[in-house]
Amino acid sequence: MAQDGQRFRPVPGDVLPRFAGIATFMRLPHVTDWTGVEIGLIGVPWDGGTTNRAGARHGPRQIRDLSTMMRNVHHASRIRPFEAANCADLGDVQVNPIDLEESLELIEAYYRRVHAAGILPLTAGGDHLLSLPILRALAADGPLGMVHFDAHTDTWDRYFGDHRYTHGTPFRRAIEEGVLDPKRTVQIGIRGSLYGENDHEWGLAQGIRVITIEEFYDLGVEAVIAEARRVAGDGPTYVSFDVDGLDPVYAPGTGTPEIGGYSTHEAQRMLRGLDGLEIVGGDVVEVAPPFDPSGMTALVGATMMYEILCVMAARIARRRAG
Ligand code: MN
Ligand code: MN
Repeated sequence: MAQDGQRFRPVPGDVLPRFAGIATFMRLPHVTDWTGVEIGLIGVPWDGGTTNRAGARHGPRQIRDLSTMMRNVHHASRIRPFEAANCADLGDVQVNPIDLEESLELIEAYYRRVHAAGILPLTAGGDHLLSLPILRALAADGPLGMVHFDAHTDTWDRYFGDHRYTHGTPFRRAIEEGVLDPKRTVQIGIRGSLYGENDHEWGLAQGIRVITIEEFYDLGVEAVIAEARRVAGDGPTYVSFDVDGLDPVYAPGTGTPEIGGYSTHEAQRMLRGLDGLEIVGGDVVEVAPPFDPSGMTALVGATMMYEILCVMAARIARRRAG
């Protein structure tokens, strides 16, 4: 399929310079006809679930800009994602910045169309609440496992009284609704001060494997990869990457930074280590350009998307090879 033509190929950087042209994700074509697309790169410019410092609504546009730095071949795995699978920029989901409930419905409806079209989505957020409507859409055939990179578990229950939908609650709701299998969910990098001593108890009681940042450094990258693979197993698995899982030295442009996180290189090694899992989609969330004067956090976000894209594309190539 990928060799059928140039429709799904990135604009070559040695023809039109990387700084030129209209920025799309990784210089891929922006398509409105989804025919033949296997991996769709999608922006969700929405931060209506943010409880503290807002700004992730500006993430997709700046990630598109910095994603023009990505090239054709992964330097370590040698995966060629744009040849392994037909990848395209599907554009942004139309959201409502002043209506949370309507936005959740709009996002879910959009990803139901993506799922029905047989497209694997790779999303740039936006705040972490957007993972909930995506999981709802992708779990149409049964609950998903998840490899979740974050400083926070995002399994809190309610905020500001009785509000059940914030970027601190998506995975509690997803487990309650049966779209996320807690026993196939691993959270990596958890840290930061808590509201109370028992903040993590609910998730642990459901069977989530929580790897705190202390355990991450005690085990080391390779052992954490092995543990993530063991927990996710052979079933369909979603990858969710909150940039605040990284140390804010590497990703200062985010709403809820927590010091003492893993490095960009450690995160890249972990994402590469997921190759071979049945990854059905992924997202990179919480890039907030207003807190990112250097623009580096958007480059970090774009590069993590590229890492996830490579393992998703490799899965498609394996399937095609039979
Ligand atoms: Mn999060
Ligand atoms: Mn977080």
